[in-house]
Amino acid sequence: MNYKRLRQGMVKDQLIARGISDERVLAVFYKVEREKFVPSDLRKDAYGDFPLSIGEGQTISQPYMVALMTQSLELKGCERVLEIGTGSGYQTAILTELSEQVYSVERIKSLAQKAESLLKKLGYSKVKTFVSDGTMGWEEFSPYDRILVTAGAKQVPQPLVNQLKDEGIMVIPVGNVYSQELRVIRKKKGRVRSTTVERCIFVPLIGKYGWSENVGAE
Ligand code: SAM
Repeated sequence: MNYKRLRQGMVKDQLIARGISDERVLAVFYKVEREKFVPSDLRKDAYGDFPLSIGEGQTISQPYMVALMTQSLELKGCERVLEIGTGSGYQTAILTELSEQVYSVERIKSLAQKAESLLKKLGYSKVKTFVSDGTMGWEEFSPYDRILVTAGAKQVPQPLVNQLKDEGIMVIPVGNVYSQELRVIRKKKGRVRSTTVERCIFVPLIGKYGWSENVGAE
């Protein structure tokens, strides 16, 4: 399988064709080897235009959605970024390439451990990971210049707003369990403004300020 060619095709046909234009973001999508972050039996589909299962009922998001969220963060390279939902670690690797320091929280221990060891193996040793309920944020290293939530929230968790720096940006999908809108939230002089970028579908954000564990099962 020629993954490099598939990767180039993904950037051209799925990202550039849909309006992803930040040159730094595109360069990183050309570079990071997505096939290393998906289960081995799904590697042939690593550059497909859809999410893939990563086990534990969770997914690695569609490449376009990862790129759109990343571009919406407007990273310049000097930011401290909090990511909620480490999953496979693919988005974590992308954020690490584009910022100063990434802190990533995942509630499922097996996914967090797998992602952490893969990220280390690939040379992303600066990333700090934490197994916890990310709706509470990660107080210890706050405030953050940027916060990215990669699971669907029913509301914007207040601890995340509190842990976002003034002039900071948070990107978060908000809606019901079946469909959400991707929101970009900007904090200025303590006030929060929100705009909607696109409709999206994410697995639920589960936790104290999110959905309950058995959401969707009732
Ligand atoms: N960004 C990931 C990637 O590139 O593979 C995909 C993330 S997946 C769509 C969403 C992740 O959020 C899942 O791994 C899920 O376990 C996690 N999650 C859900 N609720 C969470 C919470 N309260 N705190 C931390 N992680 C959470």
